[in-house]
Amino acid sequence: MPLEIAGMDRYPPLMMRSWTVARVSGIDVRLHPTFAFVFLWVLIDWRRVGAGNGGSSIAFSVILVLLIFTCVLLHEFGHAFMARQHGVRVHDVSLSAIGGVARMEQLPEESRAEVLIALSGPAANLAFIIAMAPIVLLAGVVSGFSSLEDYATTVFEPSPIGLLTTLLYANVLIIVFNVLPAFPMDGGRVFRAALTSAVGREMGTRIAVVVGQAFAVVLLLFSIFVAQSVILVLLSVFVIVVAYGEERAVRVESAMRRMRVGQFALWDSGGIGPNQPLTNALRGGLRDITVTEGGRVVGVLWRNRLLAELGRTVSGRTVGDVMERDPITVDIDMPIYDVHQLMEEQDLWAVPVIESGMYRGIFTGDRFLHIYSQLSPDPVQAARHFIERRLLARLRA
Ligand SMILES: [Zn+2]
Repeated sequence: MPLEIAGMDRYPPLMMRSWTVARVSGIDVRLHPTFAFVFLWVLIDWRRVGAGNGGSSIAFSVILVLLIFTCVLLHEFGHAFMARQHGVRVHDVSLSAIGGVARMEQLPEESRAEVLIALSGPAANLAFIIAMAPIVLLAGVVSGFSSLEDYATTVFEPSPIGLLTTLLYANVLIIVFNVLPAFPMDGGRVFRAALTSAVGREMGTRIAVVVGQAFAVVLLLFSIFVAQSVILVLLSVFVIVVAYGEERAVRVESAMRRMRVGQFALWDSGGIGPNQPLTNALRGGLRDITVTEGGRVVGVLWRNRLLAELGRTVSGRTVGDVMERDPITVDIDMPIYDVHQLMEEQDLWAVPVIESGMYRGIFTGDRFLHIYSQLSPDPVQAARHFIERRLLARLRA
């Protein structure tokens, strides 16, 4: 299933709250509300396929669907555990009506890690098949099966052996579907990595996305006219939407890797001296201010700290009393992309920019809005996600 990478300029296609239902080795398992529809579709989609009608067949389908989604979870945890091995933080694994998604922090730039993380999902299903095969074979032998055809005819049959063979069959389908070179499915990521080494990441992504969307359109036509499956229709639409979002994110990301933080830093009259009275810091409005001495950064006066101080008596106190000493600074040539990563990791709202040790200006989080508006055709949407996260972090702080 697609790996969704949490990051800027990325928002889930279905903006609905998920519920955390379990926690496996520190990773939340979440259910999207649409997961409930699966059972509605069981009645529409699966009864058609399932042998016979009546209660036993429906009960069989419900159990089967639950087991298949367990295999989807297995697939997602394959991704999640491999990602953690490569130092990528995994937010959660969520199940919706159209499958699973493992949400994680920005993947490493290194293609090899991305390929390994992508392949470990299908590998988990393969491991499941290998582990199950002897049990299914044995059950078949006990039932007097003599050929592979005997096994094949039990697929979708509402019986214990039917459950086992259908589960194997479903895992084969999960693997086949995921290794298609349709971005953002797992195979598409491997395909993109191969293209990246030839034509670069930005162009590689663009090609992989076009191929992925072509696959999705074929799948969409197939699911409407041949399979007549609601789940497949939704899945193809999902692939088209996510592939588009991914392409745009990579475009924004490469542009942000080219931009330097120096271009967006604000001089702000060279900051403020540590011996100045605190009241001076309020001139020009409430904001984060760099504290400098002889042109060098010695601290930062955070606006929320300043705000807290306003309630008390300010007279007699200096900037140096309230500032944070030895703050994190960035070099004027640091790419905007790396600055964004740093600010997210350290939960910073602003960062002083220096050149050869001297203060050159302050870069504040709201400058990202300006940057997004230059890069994205839909800056409001792109920035909203970022701002919401930052504001929430501020409110909690
Ligand atoms: Zn996958």
